[in-house]
Amino acid sequence: MADPAKIVSTNASGNFFVDTTCINCDACRQLAPATFVDAGEYSAVYQQPATDIDVIAATRALLCCPTGSIGTKEKNQAAIVRQEFPLLLDDNVYYCGFNSAKSYGANSFFVKHQGGNWLIDSPKFLPFLVEKFEQLGGIKYIFLTHRDDVADAAKYAEKFTAVRIIHADELYSQPESEIVFEGYEASEFAPEFTIIPVPGHTKGHMLLLYKNKFLFTGDHLSYEPETRGLYAFRNHCWYSWPEQTKSMEKLTHYDFEWVLAGHGDKVRLPFAEMKKQLKALVERMKD
Ligand code: SF4
Repeated sequence: MADPAKIVSTNASGNFFVDTTCINCDACRQLAPATFVDAGEYSAVYQQPATDIDVIAATRALLCCPTGSIGTKEKNQAAIVRQEFPLLLDDNVYYCGFNSAKSYGANSFFVKHQGGNWLIDSPKFLPFLVEKFEQLGGIKYIFLTHRDDVADAAKYAEKFTAVRIIHADELYSQPESEIVFEGYEASEFAPEFTIIPVPGHTKGHMLLLYKNKFLFTGDHLSYEPETRGLYAFRNHCWYSWPEQTKSMEKLTHYDFEWVLAGHGDKVRLPFAEMKKQLKALVERMKD
């Protein structure tokens, strides 16, 4: 629970605040950009939410903060807003919320599908979320983009007898995984689901393309709201930037509208605009 005694000094005064346990992961800024801002070492409230919509957005951020660093000085609506999760994004694709500090606050997603539901990376393991996933029909597959974002996948796998899918190069982060993906060629794993290995951020990083519309990108590809452009994290590339650039170029052969990343905004762009932005990103990466 956030501590008013540790309040970040740049917070705008008022009900919502961020304390100094913040790890500056960016989840709150994605969910409530009208309220939270990057203040250097931490995030901070730069403007108290003024409308009902902004209050709900800030409350979502409070719930999803991996470190419990967001608080309110007065009573809040967290118990009500919590019921919205997982948040429906489009079609049958959801943002799970409740980001885990074990994955540095990375986003995770859920796909409700007639062939069995998918969890993409892992939120915190919470009885409330387990219940929500049960109501949605459980979890058949847990797709792990890479080693950094496994969080509580093992607990979800055990609870739902779900099958974890991970690349051989990342297996040490989740050694009991049921399906180990070998090699670096894309493969249609199931109707509508294609696995695309993208070495770069880590050697065994993989993406999941669903319906040629939703691309779950882990830490390979992101969207930067400030520049309204696709983005790759050069300062957080742990394996090889040239390899990541090659992997990014490979993606220009696919069609998709949504980029759903571990960090950075969730974005939907028209197919042509997405492709144009992706090609521009590849050129920037080569520079
Ligand atoms: S979600 Fe929490 S940990 Fe992440 S930047 Fe915001 S306040 Fe900090």
